[in-house]
Amino acid sequence: MTTTPAASSQVSFEVETTVPTSHGTFRMRAYRDTVTGADHVAIIASDPTGLPPADDALVRVHSECLTGEAFGSLKCECGPQLDAALDTIRDHGGVVVYLRGHEGRGIGLVNKLRAYRLQEDGLDTLDANLALGLPADARDYGAAADVLRDLGLARVRLLSNNPEKRRQLGQHGIEVTELVPLVVGVGAFNEGYLDTKRDRMGHELPGHLGSDD
Ligand SMILES: [Zn+2]
Repeated sequence: MTTTPAASSQVSFEVETTVPTSHGTFRMRAYRDTVTGADHVAIIASDPTGLPPADDALVRVHSECLTGEAFGSLKCECGPQLDAALDTIRDHGGVVVYLRGHEGRGIGLVNKLRAYRLQEDGLDTLDANLALGLPADARDYGAAADVLRDLGLARVRLLSNNPEKRRQLGQHGIEVTELVPLVVGVGAFNEGYLDTKRDRMGHELPGHLGSDD
């Protein structure tokens, strides 16, 4: 695995170490985002034969979600999605690129809670953002592409239901050869949220099942 990012990379590699977790033991590589100042981490699992992730590896590009992952919020499915992604790479090998600064699809924690407040009045997840004068999705995947490049991964199978993520990674030079669905964490509190993502934001979700991204 190389430790020298491309000259134009948006991320600088900082450190790699092994971390045991409740999902398994992973290598973690930390990066500093030279544009936003955020810290990102690549969580890396060898495949069952012990080989590191290579071409066409399973990859999850996961956006930080404090409310869903740390507090167990049922407004979204980010916590169960992250759990499922970590279990998947533990079993099959692969990488989870965890992107910080992506809270609330990039609008930040305070604005995300403002949007939740508007949803109490009946707005859906998309209209709440628009009512606040914020984009439906403010995330950028340039840093994720640079992390993947640093890992030597130019072609990946993406654990996602979000075609926009595939398109953006492609724009940043990462070929997504397959979208591998990640459908978890669907419940009464986020069904409407998932319906909006399917019906209004182009996510590939079946019926009332769904997944973030
Ligand atoms: Zn979330």
